[in-house]
Amino acid sequence: MSIQLVTTVAGLRAESARLLRSRNGVSQGLVPTMGALHEGHAALAHTAVEQNDVVVASIFVNPLQFGDAVDLDRYPRTLDADLALLEEQGVDLAFAPSVEEVYPGGEPLVRITSGRLGEKWEGASRPGHFDGALTVVAKLLHYGMPAAGLPSGSLPDGSSGAALPAYRAYFGQKDAQQLALVRRMAADLNFPVEIVGVPTVRSDDGLALSSRNRFLSDEEREAALVLSRALRLLEERANAHEPLDVESAQAMIESQPLVALDYFDVVDPGSLEPLAENCRETPFRGEALALIAAKVGPVRLIDNMPLSS
Ligand code: AMP
Repeated sequence: MSIQLVTTVAGLRAESARLLRSRNGVSQGLVPTMGALHEGHAALAHTAVEQNDVVVASIFVNPLQFGDAVDLDRYPRTLDADLALLEEQGVDLAFAPSVEEVYPGGEPLVRITSGRLGEKWEGASRPGHFDGALTVVAKLLHYGMPAAGLPSGSLPDGSSGAALPAYRAYFGQKDAQQLALVRRMAADLNFPVEIVGVPTVRSDDGLALSSRNRFLSDEEREAALVLSRALRLLEERANAHEPLDVESAQAMIESQPLVALDYFDVVDPGSLEPLAENCRETPFRGEALALIAAKVGPVRLIDNMPLSS
């Protein structure tokens, strides 16, 4: 089946409802993206297609989450290639609205605030970023919601289709803080959607795939490998039930002159609060997340590693 491109909210709702009905479907998945798609996004789409009867992927570069107009302008836009990648994964609908379609009255007056969880790490370096991101994710989650049950008597056994279709939305572990915030938003505000996290996809040499990697020179790309190497060092320590030795990993990053470290820490996966110091000096037990952000040349990269022991 070929993918269908829709650009309006009304079109998205009509087409997703039609598809769900025509398939007697009981579940719908949404994969929100900003386009410039790569194998990381493909993994989200693939998981969504495996788990749902109808899958929508959105492609929208959200001005509200960019502090810097130059960064927004520079963000890569590759719609034709994106549609081909989504079609290959079996996505049914690509929703690529204009800024006016999403924000018909201009910038919204009422927004989601990401609170304390949105002020640290990425939020500290990019003030307002998560408020803007959560505001558009809230809107996208509304747009992608499946139409309510089938009319009574319309199911093959003659029963009513009153049960609501399942609704799932897919986010990458790559953006760990965003994933934690989306989970909190859905829980705190009772969004009727299951948030599914998908593991980070990396290239063979370990670099986490990102739409921004295309801006790295060969030399910078080589230097950027130190981020995933440092994370892997912590993962090996955790797996061996050894103290995490954050200092050695940090020294490894600082020895790379093209890399300017922003933050590197080991945190609780839910609250993103740093783990107590003693977890670094005693054998590591439990669940944690190592977070890293750095500028490599002109490109800001983030990565993380779930740790479990
Ligand atoms: P973006 O288009 O960068 O906003 O990303 C859209 C979704 O794809 C987000 O949920 C990201 O976390 C996810 N994503 C981006 N890169 C990767 C990756 N390398 N592996 C898995 N998911 C990713």
